[in-house]
Amino acid sequence: DVRVRFCPSPTGTPHVGLIRTAMFNWAYARHTGGKMIFRIEDTDAARDSEESYGQIIEGLRWLRLDWDEGVEVGGPHGPYRQSERYDIYRDVIAQLTASGHIYESFATGEEIEARNVSLGRDPKMGYDNFERDLSAEQKAAYRADGRSPALRLRVPDTELSFDDLVRGEITFPAGSFSDFVVVRPNGHPLYPFVNPVDDALMGVTHVLRGEDLLSSTPRQIALYHALIDIGVTTFVPRFGHLPFVLGDKNKKMSKREPESNLFHHRDRGFIPEGLLNYLALLGWSISHDRDVFSIEELVAKFDVKDVNPNPARFDQKKAESINGDQIRLLEAADFAERVVPYLAAADVLSEPASDADRAVLAQAAPLIQERIALLGEAPAMLGFLFVTGENLVHEADALKSLPQTAAEILAASSTALRAIPEPDWATDRVHTVLNGTLLDGLALKPRVAFGPLRVAVSGRKVSPPLFESMEILGQAETLARLDRLAQ
Ligand code: GLU
Repeated sequence: DVRVRFCPSPTGTPHVGLIRTAMFNWAYARHTGGKMIFRIEDTDAARDSEESYGQIIEGLRWLRLDWDEGVEVGGPHGPYRQSERYDIYRDVIAQLTASGHIYESFATGEEIEARNVSLGRDPKMGYDNFERDLSAEQKAAYRADGRSPALRLRVPDTELSFDDLVRGEITFPAGSFSDFVVVRPNGHPLYPFVNPVDDALMGVTHVLRGEDLLSSTPRQIALYHALIDIGVTTFVPRFGHLPFVLGDKNKKMSKREPESNLFHHRDRGFIPEGLLNYLALLGWSISHDRDVFSIEELVAKFDVKDVNPNPARFDQKKAESINGDQIRLLEAADFAERVVPYLAAADVLSEPASDADRAVLAQAAPLIQERIALLGEAPAMLGFLFVTGENLVHEADALKSLPQTAAEILAASSTALRAIPEPDWATDRVHTVLNGTLLDGLALKPRVAFGPLRVAVSGRKVSPPLFESMEILGQAETLARLDRLAQ
């Protein structure tokens, strides 16, 4: 059975590239009926934070990417935070030491460089495995000197290849890397050790992760062979390295770019469906002629074998357009519900919304659902419906756009609309009356005629449909707004 894992280090706010990785793992688990494991790699106390941990959880929950085993939910292979697994690592280290797969190495970085210089080699060539067979006396001498050893994995002197699920066959020639440090002299185990050890202990079958980790894979496979040898696991997982997400200037998207931050998108009004749909397109596609799809379709169709190895550029415009498409697919009531927090954040209404505000929103939301790409556009579009006339602010550019005849247009409209009996106040009736008065009566072009009405009613040059807005506001409020701007 497929077992995949998402194992972020809790440093900083969640990056969209990290979330894309989580989503592909999740989709693969759901597609195959396998299990999604969520582990936290918090072995770097200087960089890890609880705040970041909380944000990763919050991000996954917001996106509804759930997991079967891991932090918060538990499972048979816990604990799922590496900071709580040191006893486990100590045990594996002892077994690997006893079996000779890892050995003590005392040379410091400077000593290794000096050795390379004295042998006439590139000083930066690194460690050349010369401490593989230190004698007991040599080790005792180092210890007598007060020095503690790092532990290195003895790696095979043969070429190493694997069949990457995304990139195909990848071969590292013999001698590509030397025996690497798995445990620091202070006893602290490092990422290249704890990550595969946990994957092995947790039965991970497929490692889907960013391309930046490709260079660590042969070392990890070497460690796997040692773990198989001592019976910790029986197999090496398959690896699939997902393409980089590129940002500005076609470089790997950096944490400094605001678009890299998951919450930046949420705060602007991406909906989970829209963001996940767009992120899925960074390296994958559902078909050549369609890029809007549901999460269910992603799950039904996703296979890591179809991931494209080429880097994918994060295109904000395209992301927004996909989000707009997904917004249009929401049920009207669901859409209205999702707009509430954005209206509340902009002080358009309070949360929880009052019944009166909810009633207005239920009528008004459909007017903008067709027009916005981000929920964050809703407050500016709908704000005028939640204030009373005297508090309505007319935007400066809207006032500037008024024609000379604005007062006349407003006065004529007000008179004509006043004649509608209150119970008949509705979009169609308002529309008919205004057409008759302004287009037929005053022979105005629609743009000239309705512009001032839009400014009077909404305070803006661009608003939801005018006549519908007037219906929602009601007759008295509409007339008050027309009269106010006419003066
Ligand atoms: N904690 C590692 C990271 O966040 C995980 C890498 C991996 O998936 O192996 O980069």
